[in-house]
Amino acid sequence: MSAFNDERVLSVHHWTDRLFSFTTTRDKGLRFSNGHFTMIGLRQEAGKPILRAYSIVSANYEEHLEFLSIKVQDGPLTSKLQHIKVGDSVIVGHKPTGTLLIDYLLPGKRLFMFASGTGLAPFLSIIRDPESYEKFDQLVLIHGVRQVKELAYHDYITEELPKHEILGEMVTEQLLYYPTVTREPYKNMGRSTDLLESGKLCKDLGLSAFNPTTDRAMICGSPSLLRDLKRMFEERGFKEGNTTTPGDFVIERAFAEQ
Ligand SMILES: Cc1cc2nc3c(=O)[nH]c(=O)nc-3n(C[C@H](O)[C@H](O)[C@H](O)COP(=O)(O)OP(=O)(O)OC[C@H]3O[C@@H](n4cnc5c(N)ncnc54)[C@H](O)[C@@H]3O)c2cc1C
Repeated sequence: MSAFNDERVLSVHHWTDRLFSFTTTRDKGLRFSNGHFTMIGLRQEAGKPILRAYSIVSANYEEHLEFLSIKVQDGPLTSKLQHIKVGDSVIVGHKPTGTLLIDYLLPGKRLFMFASGTGLAPFLSIIRDPESYEKFDQLVLIHGVRQVKELAYHDYITEELPKHEILGEMVTEQLLYYPTVTREPYKNMGRSTDLLESGKLCKDLGLSAFNPTTDRAMICGSPSLLRDLKRMFEERGFKEGNTTTPGDFVIERAFAEQ
């Protein structure tokens, strides 16, 4: 049996010239947990398919799959993937995996999710998981980008999700969203590391300071963001969790540096 399913593209949305998202059909046998990533790619006329790791944006109870993608102009996969159209085929791996699962966190009261760029993707499934709202009193999603137009899903999170038939009430009462921009004026500005270090993040949101006994964190972003936030959390006494030992925070790369 092939390790991949051929899925059909159902919709494509271009956010910017560097960012797009798309939905596909979903094989009924594909099981995953919210926060997981899987290998996806394109078949080639000759040779092996081009495959890359992608976090799954859609929640695990949805009928379709959704992905958020960068466009790297000379990238082996995304130089081609960015041109996909409705009806095209994308291959999706059978074995989703990853560390950004609430199961890999110790019980807590507040869940902070730090994302940069496409690192937002896994958190979109986590904030649509009713279990996230059962396990934590409060969810705080911080999304850092360079330009305002890169705040993908901003309107979905602020306008659509609070009106969601099943999740709406939980979202309205328990989810705080903090979009922040580094390269142009915006209501929230700066890197999440600086916002965390200075205390501005908690102050702006009206929250008490970080506390390892009750707070948990998930981080998905550039290798440098991961390194800096990991150091900051460890300095504050947080312990990293993994797939075998739950901890106070878990991390996943949004991409690998070449
Ligand atoms: C666990 C994991 C999950 C991932 N999830 C996603 C996802 O949900 N969406 C997504 O777009 N990518 C994601 N990636 C990155 C993805 O696997 C590919 O690197 C990306 O699709 C580009 O593929 P490529 O073949 O075009 O270029 P590559 O040769 O893979 O990358 C070329 C260079 O582009 C830069 N780059 C690659 N991906 C990104 C990115 N996402 N943001 C900013 N710069 C980048 C890096 O400098 C990289 O060295 C993930 C990577 C990992 C390890």
